[in-house]
Amino acid sequence: MARRGTSPLPPRFFVTGTDTGVGKTQASCALLSLLADAGHAPQGFKPYESGCASLNAPADALALREAARSDLPLELVCPHRFRAPLAPGIAARRLGREPDWRVTLAAWERVGRGSVVVEGAGGLFVPLDASHDVIDLIAALELPVVLVARAGLGTLNHTALSLAALAARNIPVAAVLLSRSAPTRDPSERDNAALLAERHALQVLGPVPYLVESRRRHAAFRAALAPLVPDRARAR
Ligand SMILES: [Mg+2]
Repeated sequence: MARRGTSPLPPRFFVTGTDTGVGKTQASCALLSLLADAGHAPQGFKPYESGCASLNAPADALALREAARSDLPLELVCPHRFRAPLAPGIAARRLGREPDWRVTLAAWERVGRGSVVVEGAGGLFVPLDASHDVIDLIAALELPVVLVARAGLGTLNHTALSLAALAARNIPVAAVLLSRSAPTRDPSERDNAALLAERHALQVLGPVPYLVESRRRHAAFRAALAPLVPDRARAR
């Protein structure tokens, strides 16, 4: 319970994944809309986005900004954008460019003052430039991680590898979120959440069901992530 006259730290998260395409953007948007509903006035930050059909319309960054109900300039929400559907550092190298780390940190200074949700690119060891991977960005921003992982077979191994890498850098983990990324069920799903919670002594949320319809999918991610968002109205 929040004490009268003290303002608790604003909720802040870095959303990363065990793999690409596991639901990071969905999870980030769900967190941002929950934070906005709870009165935290959050911002979304997607500093590196590749696979942009149009450089003026990076889909993930725009989705984050909309979910946050923010009107921050896109240059701050998403300073580095690439057309090629490759790791950002590789997409940049193909263009003979090097994304400027200082530009990322300068944007962060403006975006990351209060409640914030940052979406990485792919998993922890995806290169952002010649000397920084996603895990270096998480460490620099000093945010707790929400690790999005597949719900089915293979997730015990992938999740353990990501958690080991985060622990080696002393990066705290707020939760693992399991997400079903295919309509077919697999028999491992029944035990994965409990096994991960037990083996790694952390909060495991989900699994979020596989839903094609975007509004129902958004609602399912919100329901799974709700335990991470303190409701200001309820705390009062
Ligand atoms: Mg994404």
